[in-house]
Amino acid sequence: MLNWKPQNKKAAICFTIDDIHPAKSSDAYEAGGDLEKGALGLVMELLNRHPKLKVTLFTTANWREISGTPTRKLLASIPFLRDKFYLAKRWPIDKMNLENHPEFVTFLNTMERAEIAYHGLYHVHKGMKIPVEFQNQTKEEFQEIVTEMVRIFDSAGVNVVKGICPPGWNAPPQLLEVLKEQNFNFVASARDIFTPITSDATNAMSGLMDVPLLYPSKVANGGITHIPSNFQATSRIERARAILDNGGLLSIKAHMVKTAFGIVALDGVDDIYINYLDALLTVIENEYGDDIWWTSMGEISNHIAQYN
Ligand SMILES: [Zn+2]
Repeated sequence: MLNWKPQNKKAAICFTIDDIHPAKSSDAYEAGGDLEKGALGLVMELLNRHPKLKVTLFTTANWREISGTPTRKLLASIPFLRDKFYLAKRWPIDKMNLENHPEFVTFLNTMERAEIAYHGLYHVHKGMKIPVEFQNQTKEEFQEIVTEMVRIFDSAGVNVVKGICPPGWNAPPQLLEVLKEQNFNFVASARDIFTPITSDATNAMSGLMDVPLLYPSKVANGGITHIPSNFQATSRIERARAILDNGGLLSIKAHMVKTAFGIVALDGVDDIYINYLDALLTVIENEYGDDIWWTSMGEISNHIAQYN
């Protein structure tokens, strides 16, 4: 196994949130754009209550998705043809481009104990799986997408760590090659909140299959660190204990958008989720004390780069 945590720590915790982008509550839904008055404010409250907790904000460079499910129903019902079209309206190009939202970028850059990482360029794709940005493109197309995503973050002045959670979890082999070539430190693709916890559990739910569910590992022929997600708001505290008792990484996932077009994200950031996490983290602090490494995906990938 990789040496992925300090020797004096028995287990670790990280917390990541997907879909951060500048949308405000005056848009179709809020995704961080209301700053401390919106969902990010709730996240800051949680960070305040737990001074060792860190968060990774997976942020999209130029978000264009409005609905994650097809709204052009007739077109969506025609096999093959539907794969060639966007099946829901998109935001106009550059409306959510980070380059056009300096106040939002400054807010993210200055959030305490928060690191920013990549969550795609547009967060859309043609066909039925709208949010799954990386699908059947060619390697050259992946290169273009990743290059433009990185360019926008640079140009907008985002203080970013070199890791990505691919939208909709999907990380095809040729994407991993591109990420390796562009010196990404980590990818967070696998998410499994159901497989029972054992030390040799592997991902069987979303994203890269068969990678370890409790520990970081190497993918793409050892070229890049993979960090799994194994817990969300609907998971029980026993699952968290089982992960920690196996010396694993309790990797908690949330999504920034709670409700969009009548679809409610079970792991969307709201008062109830934040209160649940507050209670969960309090129990862990009391039961495990200093045995826990409170860390972030960026820190873990740095540790791995240094000690392996
Ligand atoms: Zn997403």
